[in-house]
Amino acid sequence: MLRKIIRGEDAPLQGVLDWEVVPVKKKGPVLVRARFGCLSSLHSLNITRGCSFDCIYCYARSFTNSPPRKTVYLYQNLVQELTRQLDSPFRKTRIKGVVFNTASDCFQPHPDILKATFEAMETILLRGIDLHVLTKGVIPKPFFGLFSDHLSSVKPSIGLVPDNPVYKVIFEPNAPSFVERLKNIENLNRIGYAPGIRMDPLIPFLTDQTDLLELFFKTLKGFDVGSITVSYIHLRPAIRKEFQYRLPELYKKIIQLAFPSSEYHQVGTSTLTRLIPVSLRHKGYQKIKDIAHHFGFTVRVCQCKNPDLQGDLCYSDQSQPSEENLPEQLPLFT
Ligand code: SF4
Repeated sequence: MLRKIIRGEDAPLQGVLDWEVVPVKKKGPVLVRARFGCLSSLHSLNITRGCSFDCIYCYARSFTNSPPRKTVYLYQNLVQELTRQLDSPFRKTRIKGVVFNTASDCFQPHPDILKATFEAMETILLRGIDLHVLTKGVIPKPFFGLFSDHLSSVKPSIGLVPDNPVYKVIFEPNAPSFVERLKNIENLNRIGYAPGIRMDPLIPFLTDQTDLLELFFKTLKGFDVGSITVSYIHLRPAIRKEFQYRLPELYKKIIQLAFPSSEYHQVGTSTLTRLIPVSLRHKGYQKIKDIAHHFGFTVRVCQCKNPDLQGDLCYSDQSQPSEENLPEQLPLFT
């Protein structure tokens, strides 16, 4: 049965999004070794294929097996397969931790998605395995009870960039608002977490202006947050295509200005990634670090997404990837 996605807890007021959730059977393992950068040594898990938050810069929709537009595939056998994989007597390597949301967001506001997310998280936590979750979604109340019961095993992070309403409407049309994500932080604080903040992707001239950054860090002062990581947007062919198709002309121009060169770099598995000129990024990151410092924060630059800069590891408790563990795919911007 197809069911529409509802928008958050105030769904009756805001109506139903024009997206369908289609149950599908997951073929192959649900847990996949996440061999990217700081997350190497962990396993990744996605509850859905496709993501109704519909961020315009999301490259997950370009995968060959991506669902059609306005459709999300929900793995109906996910928890069963997860349990089978975790409890397999043939497992050779220990699963140290599971990272959610490398190509989707597990807190899309659909009851079936949230139910699968809860069951998957519970299955993992009950086995004493660490759970890393980076989200732009609203974390529903029942999850806070689950997280409280496994305080030291859950490592939450929130995707958050300086608040610019124009950016939100154009770049992250269906994702929760800045205020809703702050509420997540507040709720996590209440049960004892200081969640990490991932400022990714920053868009030059839109979300990296001094006044917005000052307001951003001033706002964060009211919360208990852990490490803050930043990265500017990068362009892959599929993202460029999406921009071409969906961005209003003015914003296409802004993106063109930010990417004056068509030189390609290798970022993760993509050899066709275009980066903002190193001088601009360097200047931008320095400005962000300085403003953050003024408000008492330290900001790290994501090394994985800035291979040509001296960056930092996003997860301080993760070791540097070894030669044979070089990045394959980067986490999304969730
Ligand atoms: S970037 Fe993340 S939240 Fe946005 S559509 Fe992609 S998977 Fe969903």
